[in-house]
Amino acid sequence: MLRSAEIIAIGSELLGPSRVDTNSLWLTGKLSDIGIEVQLKTVVGDDGARLEEAISDALKRADVVITTGGLGPTEDDITRGCTAKALGRELVYHEAIEATLRDRFRAWGREMPEINKRQAFVIDGAEILENPRGSAVGMLTSIGEKRVVNLPGPPRENQPMFTELVAPRLKELVGDVFVERREMKIVGMGESAVDEIAAPIYTSYENVQTSILFNRTEVELQIAARRDTQEEAAAVADELTRRLADAFGIAMFTTTGETMEAVVGRLLTERGETVAFAESCTGGLVSRRITEVPGSSVYFLEGLVAYSYQAKVRILGVRQETLDEFGAVSAECAREMAEGALRVSGATHAVSITGIAGPDGGTDEKPVGTVFFAYAGPSGTRSIKLILPGDRYLIRWRSSQAALDLLRRTLLRQ
Ligand code: AMP
Ligand code: MG
Repeated sequence: MLRSAEIIAIGSELLGPSRVDTNSLWLTGKLSDIGIEVQLKTVVGDDGARLEEAISDALKRADVVITTGGLGPTEDDITRGCTAKALGRELVYHEAIEATLRDRFRAWGREMPEINKRQAFVIDGAEILENPRGSAVGMLTSIGEKRVVNLPGPPRENQPMFTELVAPRLKELVGDVFVERREMKIVGMGESAVDEIAAPIYTSYENVQTSILFNRTEVELQIAARRDTQEEAAAVADELTRRLADAFGIAMFTTTGETMEAVVGRLLTERGETVAFAESCTGGLVSRRITEVPGSSVYFLEGLVAYSYQAKVRILGVRQETLDEFGAVSAECAREMAEGALRVSGATHAVSITGIAGPDGGTDEKPVGTVFFAYAGPSGTRSIKLILPGDRYLIRWRSSQAALDLLRRTLLRQ
């Protein structure tokens, strides 16, 4: 039974700084969906010896080896030949492939260049994978129980080829393995703190793969439960999700992979309530995020970017004395900003953000990363102070997350 896979992305451009191997990401997801786990990915330049070695090494370790790229007609397209060598097979010429290619070129009003003839050579014994979207056919070769698949490089060609021709054949050989995935997100905690809580729970499950990923503002906890039936897999995934959700409480803001802005939007929609933001150091980032959610016009009334002292006074009615006495980065200013936004917008809730994103402007008393937030709404006004780590980019992103999270927690507590 097929269980493990390796992917080899071929092309010298993929070793440079400007092109990314996205094929293997996509393939990894699709393989996982049918119960095959990718255990190693390799990127190889257009170098025959290295490619041949990469293919034969991969075949020693994995049940399925998938290559992408290098099936074109030019000199640097070496996948056909190298795969054949690695498998100890010949390349054989297929007249039908050449005929199809000639027809296709004629349909475009051109003669087939002679070099395209190369694309009519196929590994002996391989199944030919038709490619209606391009000139390179793919190949699927059986080596005992194992399978080697050569796919063309362009995603628009290899994705349908994999979905239509490869996945069904591999699935048959995997047997009945069903995978159920869940994606949870946690805010306000680091990766290790999350793992301290999560590990004792998820390690008690067999055949559940867990990954903990940190991105700029949150920790993602992904689980994939593998079982013999869909129902069992779903039951295990749901139970584990429930246990993790109980352990994290309010810090876990989604168990379905939603973004923070989508969660906030959903809570406001459910309540039929509205929000306005008064932003300083985030410069509109919170408003941008909230409006990225389709349908946000139902609950988002306005975002006011009040950067200067004058703007805070004029747009939000912050008192000049407050600014003179406490400065713009202060709990007092944040409170007046939120109350001002509530007043001018007529929204149910308002949240403000004012802080020092750096790299300059920090003091001993208020170092870079000091950010004040305030909430104003039916339950009154409340401010919090955070000292956020990171550079300017991260401080601004983390501030936007903290502002949305302040609103989320307030909504859930009301
Ligand atoms: P090739 O089949 O090597 O001639 O590749 C043709 C084109 O496919 C390249 O120019 C890329 O645009 C695309 N491509 C090749 N390999 C990859 C990859 N690993 N990820 C994403 N795109 C790729
Ligand atoms: Mg190439």
